[in-house]
Amino acid sequence: DLVDVPLVIEGLVKEYPDGHRAVDDVSWRAERGQVVGLLGPNGAGKTTTLRMVMGLIRPDAGTAHVLGQPVTAGAAVLGRVGALVEGPGFLPHLSGRANLLSYWAATGRPVEEAQLEEALDIAALGDAIDRPVKAYSQGMRQRLGIAQAMLGMPEVLILDEPTNGLDPPQIAAMRPILAQYAAGGRTVVVSSHLLAEVEMTCSHVVMMHAGRVLAAGSVDDVGVAEGHTLESVFLSTIAGAG
Ligand code: ATP
Repeated sequence: DLVDVPLVIEGLVKEYPDGHRAVDDVSWRAERGQVVGLLGPNGAGKTTTLRMVMGLIRPDAGTAHVLGQPVTAGAAVLGRVGALVEGPGFLPHLSGRANLLSYWAATGRPVEEAQLEEALDIAALGDAIDRPVKAYSQGMRQRLGIAQAMLGMPEVLILDEPTNGLDPPQIAAMRPILAQYAAGGRTVVVSSHLLAEVEMTCSHVVMMHAGRVLAAGSVDDVGVAEGHTLESVFLSTIAGAG
């Protein structure tokens, strides 16, 4: 089971030193071919959950398995998982292209020349790809970060708030890219607080609020239908959770 499902998280808990339980017994899974939207308002625990899945922080309880392997904090999952963290860090004096190349070398992920070209297309930075990243806008950095995460087309792609800093046409341009990515049998997880965007982009959703999962399933399963947007479903689910 763990081998067949690319991303399985069970009973994850994270408490910060101030005693605040940012993630409180969170379980869900993401299958091949799915674009899963992890959604919830700011502070719901999305980033903390994804950081545990990426092995960047250690859970207090629970487990995450990626491609059948348990995630251990500190161990490199980046060879197997493409990840965009909030506010991606780059080497500011190097060009966008040089940053992609150095990331590629650091992960040890096998990447073919054609896949590098694909990543450059996704970044859509034009001539700016050869200019230092320190001159980039937030949106340009974000597009470079998304392209970097997709470099080599890893089986599992995790993007934390990928729409940050993007304008509406750029957000719209991301939708077919993610759909196509998953259509090849890969798995995409995106976190977002933009419910309308998640509704347009994702096949499945995991709704989080105050550290807990309130509902999960396909967009249809959670009750999105004519007259019921994801936003209205989410608000009534929160209200029901009291
Ligand atoms: P956002 O979109 O704002 O990142 P989120 O759903 O991703 O929201 P988290 O960033 O996971 O939420 O934060 C969940 C809760 O944990 C918040 O209440 C936040 O204040 C708290 N939190 C996050 N990081 C820390 C930390 N390092 N120390 C203490 N509390 C933290």
